[in-house]
Amino acid sequence: MKRIKIAHVFDRATELVGQEVCVKGWVRTHRGNKYVQFVALNDGSTIRNLQIVFDMNNFTDEQLKPLTTGSAMAVTGMLVESQGKGQTIEIQARELEVYGTADPETYPLQKKGHSLEFLREIAHLRPRTNTFSAVLRVRSTLAYAIHRYFQERGFYYLNTPLITASDCEGAGAMFQVTTLNLNDMPRTEEGAVDYSCDFFGKPTALTVSGQLEGELGATALGAIYTFGPTFRAENSNTPRHLAEFWMIEPEVAFIDIDENMDLAEDFLKYCIRYALDNCRDDIDFLAEHYDKELVNRLESVINTDFVRLSYTEAIDILLASGHKFEFPVSWGVDLQSEHERFLVERHFKRPVILTGYPKEIKAFYMKQNEDGKTVRAMDVLFPAIGEIIGGSEREENYDKLMTRIEEMNIPMKDMWWYLDTRRFGTVPHSGFGLGFERLVLFVTGMTNIRDVIPFPRTPKSAEF
Ligand code: ATP
Ligand code: MN
Repeated sequence: MKRIKIAHVFDRATELVGQEVCVKGWVRTHRGNKYVQFVALNDGSTIRNLQIVFDMNNFTDEQLKPLTTGSAMAVTGMLVESQGKGQTIEIQARELEVYGTADPETYPLQKKGHSLEFLREIAHLRPRTNTFSAVLRVRSTLAYAIHRYFQERGFYYLNTPLITASDCEGAGAMFQVTTLNLNDMPRTEEGAVDYSCDFFGKPTALTVSGQLEGELGATALGAIYTFGPTFRAENSNTPRHLAEFWMIEPEVAFIDIDENMDLAEDFLKYCIRYALDNCRDDIDFLAEHYDKELVNRLESVINTDFVRLSYTEAIDILLASGHKFEFPVSWGVDLQSEHERFLVERHFKRPVILTGYPKEIKAFYMKQNEDGKTVRAMDVLFPAIGEIIGGSEREENYDKLMTRIEEMNIPMKDMWWYLDTRRFGTVPHSGFGLGFERLVLFVTGMTNIRDVIPFPRTPKSAEF
């Protein structure tokens, strides 16, 4: 008999009750007595377990003994309305096949309620828990929502390189990529490492952002987005930073900073709405177990206009608040998470888009304002998260861009290709980067970024 997924058994229950079905999955619990035994079966397609009932007139203890928590099985039997409470339907087992067993002495996921910290140590098995299967389904659905959003609006999916020779993005420390023998480096006459012997003939690293190549795409295709892994060797052990994370970077020709903000706001609301509409079981489960306010928070973000505020106004608000911050505030400082969260959670109580940052604390490519001091940067700040998006209108004027590059001493010798966008048919354009895991954090209500990516990469940790 052809196997059917447990999610579909629940979805099509009215039609399937009274029929034989075959399901396959992993045993979550097994209990019962010598007359009747019950297995709660999960196959990863839904947070819900399907109850399998074994009438012990038809099965032996010996047959059911291997069905311990974590073991895998296939069962065929009649789908019926459940007599017991706690579930609506169940399968009356007729035929059982056991695949792999899981020794109760050594299988680590015995009892419920393991701490998230413990589960990080067994990241290879944690997708089998309710929490992580829910998070991973939400993550997958959000990835789909992102592609849908852009594809439906005529953005092209552009794949930018992961290995790059440009070291000017300034977004954070980079991981070097080399095939040179670290124990026996070829040296130039001056004693420096001789990269002409390296694989690419020059120093290369893993990318910290696809933006610069994204701009090449946008100034040809009109509107593109990237969605791929990004690497930052920042040694910051925070609940919001990973060394390897996924970033979505739309880049659009002919739009200014205001239209860029409209895009960011509409895009975020679409993704959150999509998850609520398509992962409600999982989000409800996570809300119940981790964050009672989760659904309210998601709904409120979808249903409110984001505040748009200049950096200068934000500094004034923070100064006037009289709040004692760990990092003192003054015009010109980079905002810390505590400042961002104060604005969002305490002052405005809704998402905030900050613009007009001092040029000194932002990247060289951001469009300069007429005041000579600020640039058209925008950070989208979210409750519980802080910065979720960073973006800007880009400086399209060749001379202004070059002046800024020289002022900031940016090594541009390998960047001629980027400057060509400003030499040939340059146009106003804008874009932003969304950290995928920060969006997944927000939607799932989890609080540590290590718990929303299957295999987190952080300082001193690259297991699995
Ligand atoms: P932060 O100030 O939080 O370190 P950033 O200003 O360095 O972020 P950007 O360079 O603007 O970040 O990157 C765009 C987006 O990528 C950020 O808004 C954030 O959502 C995400 N992001 C940045 N660094 C990380 C990281 N190490 N791990 C996960 N997501 C990140
Ligand atoms: Mn940023």
